[in-house]
Amino acid sequence: MGAEFTEEEETLFNRIGESVLRRLRKTRNPGDLLGVLAGEHKQFDLAYATAPAAARESVACRAGCDACCHVPVGVQAHEVLIVAQHIQKTFSPEALDAVIARAAVHRAAFAGKSNAERAMLRTPCVVLHAGSCSVYGARPEACRSHHSNNATACGLNLDFETEEIDVYVHGVRGRMFAVMLGIDQAAAEAGYDGQAYDLGSALHEALTDSLCAVRWTQRKPAFSESCWEEAPDSLGGESGVIRAEGFFEPE
Ligand code: SF4
Repeated sequence: MGAEFTEEEETLFNRIGESVLRRLRKTRNPGDLLGVLAGEHKQFDLAYATAPAAARESVACRAGCDACCHVPVGVQAHEVLIVAQHIQKTFSPEALDAVIARAAVHRAAFAGKSNAERAMLRTPCVVLHAGSCSVYGARPEACRSHHSNNATACGLNLDFETEEIDVYVHGVRGRMFAVMLGIDQAAAEAGYDGQAYDLGSALHEALTDSLCAVRWTQRKPAFSESCWEEAPDSLGGESGVIRAEGFFEPE
């Protein structure tokens, strides 16, 4: 995995992946599985805290900037279900209805479009509320992984619909990706849905169909093709799947 990883990042990927796979396999109660994966979110904080100090000091992300919440968010099924659980436990009935309504509009707008076409829409994330993430404690892995060294450039990239200005924080980004891919690869190794989904579309399905979570625990695809990260028709085939490849099995 990841020829682009440094040796340290590769070690991190393997350590996280082995640990998550072990925990998933030891979990007997299906109702505890999402909690196991949500519990691994702390690994992002640990990886960030141990990144080089100069890299951390260059991070420009601050409360109230939300440019990165106006792009399509690609996620794994377990991440959608963790967000859905958080919403169902903590939102008022009115707030729940409102997020379902926003997600329905989002899903209709994204239907049948490629990722590039979706990015052009600059649609706010369905759980962005008054400039803040309303599911911050349960936010997906891509959101935890993203850091910018230039908030102004994030806005310019958004305004001009490009990613021409490189805002990535080198020294942090690779570590975050190692954690994210370690968790996701471990879930796939344990047999859980490895399809990449669009957060807003899949969240709509998760909040309106309780069987999504059941299908996931049964190691079946949790969401319909209409929730894929990239519309199947725009590709002519499958998109963004993580498959079990025996990364974390002992030799
Ligand atoms: S889940 Fe939260 S952090 Fe991620 S894009 Fe949506 S609003 Fe932003």
